[in-house]
Amino acid sequence: MPASLIRSRTMITRALDRHRWEEIADGAVLQEDGTITAVGTFADLSRRHPTVPVVGSGNEVLLPGFINGHHHVGLTPVQLGSPDMPLELWFVTRMVMRNVNPYLDTLYSAFEMITSGITTVQHLHGWAPGKLGEVETRCEDVIRAYQDVGMRVSYSFSVRDQNRLVYQADTDFVASLPAELRGPVQRWYDRFQLSLDDFFAVFETLHGRHRNSSRVKIQLSPANLHWCSDAALTRFAEVSRAFDVPLHMHLLETAYQKEYARRRGGCSAVEYIDRFGLLGPQMTLGHGVWLNASDIDRLAETGTCVCHNCSSNFRLRSGVAALNVLEAKGINTAIGIDEAGINDDRDMLQEMRMVLRAHRVPGMDDEVPTAAQVFRMATSGGAKTTAFGERLGVLEVGRAADMVLIDWEQLSYPYLDEETPVLDAVLQRAKATGVRTVICDGEAIYNEGRYTKVDRDAALRALHNDLQKALADDEVERRKLSKMLLPHVKRFYANYFDPGAHEPFYRPSSRV
Ligand SMILES: [Zn+2]
Repeated sequence: MPASLIRSRTMITRALDRHRWEEIADGAVLQEDGTITAVGTFADLSRRHPTVPVVGSGNEVLLPGFINGHHHVGLTPVQLGSPDMPLELWFVTRMVMRNVNPYLDTLYSAFEMITSGITTVQHLHGWAPGKLGEVETRCEDVIRAYQDVGMRVSYSFSVRDQNRLVYQADTDFVASLPAELRGPVQRWYDRFQLSLDDFFAVFETLHGRHRNSSRVKIQLSPANLHWCSDAALTRFAEVSRAFDVPLHMHLLETAYQKEYARRRGGCSAVEYIDRFGLLGPQMTLGHGVWLNASDIDRLAETGTCVCHNCSSNFRLRSGVAALNVLEAKGINTAIGIDEAGINDDRDMLQEMRMVLRAHRVPGMDDEVPTAAQVFRMATSGGAKTTAFGERLGVLEVGRAADMVLIDWEQLSYPYLDEETPVLDAVLQRAKATGVRTVICDGEAIYNEGRYTKVDRDAALRALHNDLQKALADDEVERRKLSKMLLPHVKRFYANYFDPGAHEPFYRPSSRV
């Protein structure tokens, strides 16, 4: 990448604490080959580097690129006919997923992410049918979409080696069903053919292939406690250490998952994975809605991170995560948009606003999310949960040149009180339509409404055209199966636990 000088009206380089951040008026960044080599004022840097091309008009706010800490798919479940439901039932409605082209699907959500200033995504690839070779091809299709569009991806293919439809062994679940459903459910299980060794082979192959890439890193994701056998958890601890890669694991998304852990190990889910040595700064827990007080203390003690998926927790009735408590305990947190945010898209500006608003409990103490906190979660906090780590999330010399320029006019016209802090204005008022330029690895991948590397209209047209074809036989069968299974799955969970046994931990206050 050639050098460029990115100028701004105001540059926000990093969050310092819950209330302070570093800000440079008329700030600029010099980047060379994707790395920041100087930070200062535009006047000074342009004098020292008069021939370097300038990006930005001087009427934008410059911030580090945002990090979507938890992402799975392109077309949203709603788009594919799977309505919002309590998570455990929603898993079954997700069977209606069509056979979508993974490359075009990934591009679709990448466009949405980039438009809202996201430069890096934690892509947790969920399900891929077939044998090892077919799965690897699909993984590469996803990764290639990010490469083509220019985003950074921390990619993992999630491991599920048990309990794939409900919190019960696959064979037991099939046996519990009426005879006419057993065949179709078994066929559904049989679509997914990876053995535990295969899952780790996928990781090793991808990790080897992409080890020298600046925008792709491969890491590990145990899909969730109920989906991973003890053998899988043991392997994760070993492989994470051997390859020095982070892990991202859904955990305690719902009360049912809390009860599942109690049944499996007589303990909390956090205590269970702790037995395998899986806690620590290399581990990020996705959701963590049903953590109890001692779980949270243990996460703080071990430096384990949490990815807060605010919209998703609302949409799938998971509950409200105790973000104010996590913050008070000093736990590193990220923001994940998960399948889709509250507007059924991947808008980080909106999701940051959700996080800012959703935890504003009554009272006057300094315990609710601040602009600086949410900004940190979306930048350096998120960075720590990816395989890129400290290279991202802050605008400073030596870090990656990933940034977003947001139009000041949109934030301030026709009037904005001059004492309103710039970061507050961004957090409260910025919209994707005000995102002017998005730079990843020193390269402008989005500028003035245009994706610079991929033809968005052609890609969306291809996705649309591809899905005009009639439903394939397997799609028709899954559609029927999903509807027929729903009452059985409801019954499975109906008496799963005594509702009084699991008070939600969520406490509105951080005073625990
Ligand atoms: Zn998820």
